[in-house]
Amino acid sequence: MGSEMINRNCPVCGSVSHAPFLQKGQLALVKCAECGMVFVNPVPRDLGDGTFYDEKGSRFYLSDEKLKGDYSPVRYEREIKLLRRFCKRGKILDVGCSTGGFLFYLNQTFPGDYEIWGTDVAREALAFAKTKGVNVIDENFFDLKGRQFDAITFWAVLEHLLDPQSFLKAAKELLHPDGFCIVLVPNFKSLATRMLGSKYRYILPQHLNYFTNQTVGALAQRAGFHVVHRSTMHFNPIVIWQDLRAKGTEVSDEERAALLAKTNAMKQSKALGGARAVYRFSETLLRRFGFADNLIAVLKPR
Ligand SMILES: [Zn+2]
Repeated sequence: MGSEMINRNCPVCGSVSHAPFLQKGQLALVKCAECGMVFVNPVPRDLGDGTFYDEKGSRFYLSDEKLKGDYSPVRYEREIKLLRRFCKRGKILDVGCSTGGFLFYLNQTFPGDYEIWGTDVAREALAFAKTKGVNVIDENFFDLKGRQFDAITFWAVLEHLLDPQSFLKAAKELLHPDGFCIVLVPNFKSLATRMLGSKYRYILPQHLNYFTNQTVGALAQRAGFHVVHRSTMHFNPIVIWQDLRAKGTEVSDEERAALLAKTNAMKQSKALGGARAVYRFSETLLRRFGFADNLIAVLKPR
């Protein structure tokens, strides 16, 4: 790191008033005195302006482990099912699409039903997405005026952004009035966060915002949406097990990607019949109580 630091107001309500919440190495999380949002402050400039992700380029996004994780039929199973529930056909834009795994499998699952578009600050990842049949938008997200989409998705993106509200507002401008915006962010009230606290691997420098059901709803409201559906999804017991035993040292991007690839493989393995049933049952239970790893909010323009 060592780059210049940016000071932030609350990314949800704009308040300047916040108090220290959690310290993990160099990473300082604060809590907004007005709305309770937890966010990183200050933030190194390269993490705030997207250059960090563009520079990671092929080294990370195009590594074997990362691609194996993103290009697995089970990786986006739940996301595809969710999108399908709200949008049966039309033009889809995936913001922060990386190498295009979600859009690729959406098209494979429902050939001909969707026109798939992706955009990302990581240009090498985006170039790969193009080779997989994704229509890529290689422009600044804020310069896309005049286009219109039936659904816009943000899968694990808003937690990385310095100003997530400006992205949701821009998405609203690009959305058909009857369209949907679907947001997935890590759940700061998940079982894993509750059990692990600062030892949780997903409290990491790239995650600038730590949302709860309440704060993601407040963000959507301020950006001009109302929330039509909320849920939680995904659960990885191996992450909890590993992080409980670890000393809270940083888990590298490569290690996280390798574990996701392995977990995807396990989810598909026939040999793990019994264990898979237990896993599915635990995820169902956690989802029911809102404790799964990720929060989902489906938004409609107001
Ligand atoms: Zn606030």
